[in-house]
Amino acid sequence: MGLIGNPLKHTISPAFQQAAFDYYGLEAQYQAVELAASELPNFIKDLRAKDAYGVNVTIPYKETVIPFLDSMDSLSATVGAVNTIVSESGKLVGYNTDVQGFGRALLEEAGFDAAGKRVVLLGAGGAAKAVVVALLDMGVASLVVVNRHNERGETLIRRFENRAKATVVSALPWDLSSLAEALRECDMVVNATSLGLKTGESPLPKGLIPSKALIYDLIYNPPATQLLVDAKECGSKTLNGLPMLVYQGAASFEIWTGKKAPVDVMMRAAEVALEKMARERV
Ligand code: NDP
Repeated sequence: MGLIGNPLKHTISPAFQQAAFDYYGLEAQYQAVELAASELPNFIKDLRAKDAYGVNVTIPYKETVIPFLDSMDSLSATVGAVNTIVSESGKLVGYNTDVQGFGRALLEEAGFDAAGKRVVLLGAGGAAKAVVVALLDMGVASLVVVNRHNERGETLIRRFENRAKATVVSALPWDLSSLAEALRECDMVVNATSLGLKTGESPLPKGLIPSKALIYDLIYNPPATQLLVDAKECGSKTLNGLPMLVYQGAASFEIWTGKKAPVDVMMRAAEVALEKMARERV
């Protein structure tokens, strides 16, 4: 079992998932399996034949893997992406635990109850889809999606409009005046872009960071992105993407094994793996 995706050079999922299986003394080897797209069908065929719990799925296969599965749960069908495959008596079932991971991290790590809050979401890619579903289900008052390619933000909003109930949803173009207006009155900013993976880059100029808002960056490596460094200096509360990553993994573990995930053990293993990676980079 393990994680399939590409590239996987910097993944820390094997470290914290293995820690969970070892905690219970379960016989399982969780490994990163970097696949070319052409290898995906055969990998899934082999998985069907194996006596395995299943696998996690990451970019770029969260959507393309769906046609190879026997079924998927309603949440992953809503999001349109699968990050967990469970082998159930030879049948492969898809789940999405990113939604739960995002929400649990928000509530448990930041103590932030999103109900009735005004949120600005930067980004409209794969991760943003799970974030939108989570935020709508939590009952945010408003959700503004700001994306570099605006049409992608608009498509994202349209896709989930029916789920919005009382939430006011909109998409804005990626320019400073739109950003400034949206940020002025918001309670939380979520960065679901990949801006911040490289040193020094941030999706927001420091002057636009709302000091009273929670700044939630989905990036976990580096643990303190430029956005989070700037946000702290502005006095904002911050949350990085590590708890979301660990909580989505914990939810996968629980679906596979039926056992309560040892979240503290998993979090510590994830932190150690990140620290090791940072040391190796120096
Ligand atoms: P995608 O490739 O699907 O989406 C990338 C997003 O970043 C798009 O909205 C894209 O905008 C935007 N973007 C990329 N480059 C730029 C740029 N130069 N300027 C402005 N916007 C840019 O990736 P994912 O959605 O899968 O991942 C997004 C981030 O979330 C990543 O950093 C990833 O590490 C993190 N993540 C964290 C998880 C966790 O558990 N903590 C889980 C999943 C993801 P456009 O549409 O215009 O191209």
